[in-house]
Amino acid sequence: MIEKIEELAVKFKDRIAYSVGENKVSFGGLFERAQKIAKELGGKDKFPVAVVGGRSADTMAAILGCIIAGRAYVPIDVSTPKERKNRIIKASNASIVLDCTDTGITCEKTENGVFSESENETAYIIFTSGSTGEPKGVPISYENLDNFIRWITALEPMDGFEHEAVLNQAAFSFDLSTAAIFYSLFKGHNIVQIEDKNDFCGIFKTIKKNKTGVFVITPTFMRLCLLEKSFCEKEYPFLKCVYFCGEALQKSLVKAVFERFPNVRIINAYGPTEATSAVCAVEITKETIEHEDILPVGKIDSSATEIFIDDGEIVLKGKSVFSGYVGRKDERYFEKGYRTGDLGYIRNGLLYCIGRNDSQIKFKGYRIELMEIEKNVLDIPGVEDCAVVAKKNPIGEVRMIKAFVSGKIGEEEIRKGLSEKLPEYMIPKITVLEKLPVNENGKTNRKELMSL
Ligand code: AMP
Repeated sequence: MIEKIEELAVKFKDRIAYSVGENKVSFGGLFERAQKIAKELGGKDKFPVAVVGGRSADTMAAILGCIIAGRAYVPIDVSTPKERKNRIIKASNASIVLDCTDTGITCEKTENGVFSESENETAYIIFTSGSTGEPKGVPISYENLDNFIRWITALEPMDGFEHEAVLNQAAFSFDLSTAAIFYSLFKGHNIVQIEDKNDFCGIFKTIKKNKTGVFVITPTFMRLCLLEKSFCEKEYPFLKCVYFCGEALQKSLVKAVFERFPNVRIINAYGPTEATSAVCAVEITKETIEHEDILPVGKIDSSATEIFIDDGEIVLKGKSVFSGYVGRKDERYFEKGYRTGDLGYIRNGLLYCIGRNDSQIKFKGYRIELMEIEKNVLDIPGVEDCAVVAKKNPIGEVRMIKAFVSGKIGEEEIRKGLSEKLPEYMIPKITVLEKLPVNENGKTNRKELMSL
């Protein structure tokens, strides 16, 4: 991996590698910065490095610096509440924190990790929502990442572009970003970053200014883009391809995209963080939306990852699949393959995903375990009982997360308690009830709560 990255720096030296706001950095410039960081990280300590930052070129250079130094990077978004950030640093056993939140990078040693000379096999650790109440760390090895890069750089039609500008929508702490970053770096493309995801005008300015030809986004983000009436082929003739991943892609959305961009190519990719971002993909054409009720999420290609259905659940096996969560590496069930929790089926060589067998949801593109919210509400002093439910629209998309709470406590106090522990997108709408409703089995009546 390290040699390959160094080759890229030479091969694409003068090309723009990274654009954010007015700032543009060439491959040569980016790698020079990364090498300096790698030198600072160098030595024999091979523990992970927490990279705290936003979308600056410094954060990107810090990530590359970790890879060059042979150390796993642990991306933590700048918006992460302090308590959660500290829990992630501790759980990942990071021995160094690279803070890229201001201009320049500061490097701070943590109390974690005991000096170790053993070789590190982990490329990065992404933390995702955990049903135990704690975020869970997914370590992705160099072998996993290498397999993923081979797959995504050969993916039709993304393999055919020349020095394209590629929009990376996701923060570095979400695995969708790994698709945009590693695809772009290994193809010599320009990674285009949105500086502020809440600046609606800024998003379109960035896309236009960079003549962004490929989008790596969630369907939620596209829905947001389509709110802008002028977002169409006439105004954005350079848009060639949209790679969707991370949540269900609805037919209605694809139709709306084709109406505005009749010539764009659309890819629907599927995979969890645990299998290195994505394991399969399929092009969605105008014919697909005519003939399919539910859109397929990928072509089955066993050379990349083995995908099969066991008891209605999608199971993944092979070089893209991780080998266990941080601190829980002995989970034996991975030997038979990683059970995704996604319900699905295979038909005519295509994979379809039809829902979940647990309370994990996708909300605005974010992966959330309702149990994690529930456990964090229950930890707040004064809360007696809590049930968290997801309200969905008729096509199954989550529109709102609601927490019903009983106890001697007010909504504002609960919200404040949660905002110290959970990221903004996980904070539910809170309703305090005198008592939670109970069904005939004596359990919390979640069905009734769904209708409130
Ligand atoms: P994450 O680990 O955040 O990438 O989330 C992985 C989960 O997102 C999967 O287990 C699925 O539930 C969902 N997902 C990802 N891609 C798709 C897709 N194309 N269609 C439907 N669900 C998807």
